[in-house]
Amino acid sequence: MRNYVLLLLLIPVFFLSLPTVSSVYAQTVYLVCLDPGHGGNSGAFNPSYNLWEDEINLDAANRLKNLLLADGKYRVEMTRTDNSFKSNNDRYTFCNSISADILVSIHVNSSTNPSIDGSMALYFKPGDKILAKQLLDVLFPALNNTDWTFTNFGLSKYASGVLLKSDMPAAMMETVMLSHDGEAQLLSDTGETSRREQVAQALYDGIEAYFAGNPDGGGGNGGGKCQDPPCRK
Ligand SMILES: [Zn+2]
Repeated sequence: MRNYVLLLLLIPVFFLSLPTVSSVYAQTVYLVCLDPGHGGNSGAFNPSYNLWEDEINLDAANRLKNLLLADGKYRVEMTRTDNSFKSNNDRYTFCNSISADILVSIHVNSSTNPSIDGSMALYFKPGDKILAKQLLDVLFPALNNTDWTFTNFGLSKYASGVLLKSDMPAAMMETVMLSHDGEAQLLSDTGETSRREQVAQALYDGIEAYFAGNPDGGGGNGGGKCQDPPCRK
C-alpha cells in the first residue's frame, strides 16, 4: 500500500519533468524555405489540360508544407503563397533573410518532346549538390510508377540566382514533365491520393532523409553564411 501511494506521488513529478523533454526536442527544429517556382501564370503550360506549372508548384508546396508541419520537427516558410510573380532576387533574399536551413525550389518540367517524362534536380553550390542528390534519390523511385517510361534525368549544375545566391543548401527539383499528356492528366487530379500528393510525399521523404544524414543542417555550400554556426533559427 505504501508503494502504491508513493507511485501516485511520483506521477505528477513525471509530468512536471515533461517541459525538459520538449525543450530538448525544440532544438531539432529545422527551418525549411519552400520556393514554389514561377507565379503569375508563367512557367510550363499544357494546353491539352489547361494546366500551368506555377499553380501545380504552389499546390505541391502547400501539400509538402502540411506534411512537414505535421511531422513536428520543421518550421516552414514559403517564397510565395499566392499566384503573384516573384523574381529570383525576391526568392533567395527571402530565404536568406530568415536564415533557413535549406531551400527547396519546386518545379514541373517541360520538353519540346512530349513523349518524355521524368525527374531531375538542379544545383550550383557544393552543398546544393548533396541536398539535390538526396532529394532526387528519394523522389525518382517514388514517382517511377507510370504506365510509360519515366526517366531519371539526374543532377545538373545550373546557374540560377536562387541556387547561386542562397546562403544555405538549395535544390531546384524538376519533379515531372508537364509536357507529357499522361503526366498532365495525372496532375489534373487534385485529390488526396493524387500525383500532386505523391510529389509532396516524395519531397517530404527526401527532406527527412537529408536531415537524417545531415543533422546539423548540412552546409558545405561554398561560402554561405551557414558555414558559421549557429545559423539556424
Ligand atoms: Zn519551372
